[in-house]
Formats: sequence, C-alpha cells, structure tokens
Amino acid sequence: MTSDKHPVHEWPYIVMAKPVGPTCNLHCRYCYYLNKFSLFPQRDRLMMSDSILEAYIRQFIQSSPGPMVHFVWHGGEPTLAGIKFYERVIDLQEQYCPPEFQCVNNIQTNGILLDRSWCTFLFDAKFHVGISLDGPGRLHDKFRISQGGDSSHNLAMTGFYNLREAGIDPDVLCSVNAVNSQFPQETYRFFLRHNVSWLQFIPIVVRLSNNTVSRQSVDAISYGNFLKAIFDEWIRYDMTSIAIQLFLECLRVWIGESPNLCVMADKCGQVLALEHDGSVYSCDHFVDRRHLLGQIDTSELGDMIALSAQVEFGLAKTSTLPLSCITCPVLMACNGGCPKDRFALSADGTADLNYLCAGYKDFLLHILPYMEQLAALISKGERPSSFMNTLKATEGEDRAKWRHANRNGPCLCGSGKKLKKCCLSVRRECNS
Ligand code: SF4
Ligand code: SF4
Repeated sequence: MTSDKHPVHEWPYIVMAKPVGPTCNLHCRYCYYLNKFSLFPQRDRLMMSDSILEAYIRQFIQSSPGPMVHFVWHGGEPTLAGIKFYERVIDLQEQYCPPEFQCVNNIQTNGILLDRSWCTFLFDAKFHVGISLDGPGRLHDKFRISQGGDSSHNLAMTGFYNLREAGIDPDVLCSVNAVNSQFPQETYRFFLRHNVSWLQFIPIVVRLSNNTVSRQSVDAISYGNFLKAIFDEWIRYDMTSIAIQLFLECLRVWIGESPNLCVMADKCGQVLALEHDGSVYSCDHFVDRRHLLGQIDTSELGDMIALSAQVEFGLAKTSTLPLSCITCPVLMACNGGCPKDRFALSADGTADLNYLCAGYKDFLLHILPYMEQLAALISKGERPSSFMNTLKATEGEDRAKWRHANRNGPCLCGSGKKLKKCCLSVRRECNS
C-alpha cells in the first residue's frame, strides 16, 4: 500500500529495468549496451535478486502518482530471466498495488525465446510486448546476429507469430542503421505485409573516439531520407492501419501537446535505468559511474529521481542547446534531439550539435505543411484519418498522372532522372 513516508513523484516516470543486465542471447553489431559488462566485472551470471526485485516493485508503485503504473522490462534480453521471474513480478505487483492503481507490464525483446509457453504466459499476464525487427531477413541479419555470426531473423519472426497466435499484437521496434536506412520502402513494406500495427524507429548512432561513429551507424542525411520516404507513403495510404510512433509524436507537437518521446521533449530525466544489482542511473543511455543516482536497496526511487543531479541532467537538454538549435524553425519538435548524440560541430565550431541534425531538419521541414493541415483539421474536430481523403481529393489528378507515367521516361518530380531510377518506388500509384 502507498504510505506518506514514501516520496510520490509529481507525474508518471519510467524505469527501464534490466533483470539480467546487459546479458543477451544475440550480439547485435550495433548494440550500445553489451559494453556495460565492464560495470559488473565480478559477476559470472547477472540476475536481479528477489530482494532487489521486491524493493523495485514496492518503491515504483509507491512513488507513482497512478492510477496506471507502467513497468518496462528491458535488457540485454529480459526473457533470459525466465518465466518464473515474471511470475514473481506479478505476485509482487499484486501484493503492493493498491486497489485504485493498476500495474501494466511492457517487455522489449528480441523474440528469440518466445515459444508457445512464453507467449501463453505473456498473454495471460496481459504483458505488452515490443519485438525488435530491422525489416526483412536480408536487412535484419546484417547486424542482428549471434556472437558466432548466425542470423536471427527466422527465430525472431517465429517469436512474432507465436505472439500473434497467443493473441498478442506486438509492437515493433526497428533500428535504423547504415544498411536498412538505404531501403526505406523495402523495410516499411515488410512491416505492412506482416500487418504490424505499431512501429517505432530508433536511429543507430554509436559514437567512437574523435567524434566519429561506428560503421553500423546511420548518417544524418540517410536518416532524414528514410523517414521522409516512409512518411510520404504513410500519410497517403496507411494512417489508419499502422501507428508510427515518431509521426504521431510529431502530430502531438503540432496540435500543441507535449511529446511523450523523450528524444523530442525539452527535458530529460524522466526515464531512469535500473540495473540487475539495484543500481539506478539517469537514463538507459547514460549507464555509467558519473550518472549513478544510487542503490535501490539503500535509497528510494522517488528520492533518486528528485535528486538535484538528476534535475540538472534533465534541464541540461535545453540549457546546453547550441545557437543553431535556438534559432531553428523546427526546435519545438526536435529540441536538439538526444544529448548523447550531440557531438557534431555547430556553427561556432563547438561539438555540441546533434549528429542527426541535418536529417531531423530535413524530415521535420518536409512534414511541416502536412502537420499544419492535420492540426487544423483536428482543431475543427475532425479525425486525423480524414486527412487521407483530403489528400486523395487534392492529389487525385496528380495520382492519375503518376499511374500512367512511363517507367523509362523522365520522372514527374522534375529531377531529370528516369522514373524507374527516381520516384517509382515511392509512388504506389505507378504500380496500380
Ligand atoms: S538522454 Fe536521450 S534517451 Fe535519455 S532521456 Fe534524454 S533524450 Fe531520452
Ligand atoms: S533540427 Fe538541428 S538545429 Fe534544429 S533543433 Fe534539431 S538538432 Fe537543433
């Protein structure tokens, strides 16, 4: 039960809990978390103890404003903790959740272990499941592989369909990297073919020394092009069938609401990371000694999130913005992106601009007219989906032109290239 002596946080916050730390049954070549083993050199098997788990569940419920308490199980690969671990999670949640609150569990997995018994458990326990897929096999298996180099796509897709059979419609998290970013249509249509209903894109940016990035990282221009190409299809054909997190978050901004996505928000600090040994960090992307807030067995979560160090960490997102951002026309939707990626040179020569800036700007300026029209429709009480019909009407003539265009002739966009070398893949009308 909640009690006055426990600090209740003003608004809901998130904890990404890692029951097995960075332990994983894959060895994705772009993973930012595998190197966290260096923080736990003494241990053979990293596993959250029952006492840490109980302290976490009790404290998280007691410090949440409610009524919904969202638990996020993350990794490493959180299914490696085993079904029994999560059965204990449910027992503890039942023990500590007051009647007016409801606990909800989210698990982010690579899908490899999701056999029928796992999926039945997840369904019965009402888990929300996010599964990581980077597109079709030939793209997914570029980097999502085992330590020995074995592919993982077939296993992940088996997990995906086992979930579906059990009655769970999983969300999909697609990492956008150096390879799949070159194939936006192929990547996107793979998800459409598999009737994915909720899709999230995460850009891979792994910073190396001298402010360079790993070879798996997406470059800014490619990231912008990837998002634009998918947005152009989604806004015309798919708004009603697939929710794409980033696009919907942008819409929130344009209708005047705050984004839920921390990368787009004006401050950080509301998404903590909890390691298996009870150590709590400022953010999943800042799991290091400098950002250690405390131990859950000796401090309260509600106190840790209110520490001045954490508050400053959160406010630094805006207070350290470079001038290029402060004067940027899309600042309200970008807010300088994630601070972990702010290492590109800004106009004054300081390495404080987001590495993805050029892509963010290109994408956000591209969607701006659509978002303004959508926001206007919504302010009149119309549903966003009606915008597809509006576009159909205004672009009707244009679509007919594209439908009859010669694939070997000049592209109708005026690029001077042949249609087949230019917009053919983006304009679905060409093939209808
Ligand atoms: S540092 Fe990046 S990932 Fe962490 S809360 Fe801020 S924007 Fe989000
Ligand atoms: S688009 Fe670039 S300049 Fe504009 S707010 Fe984002 S990171 Fe800053």
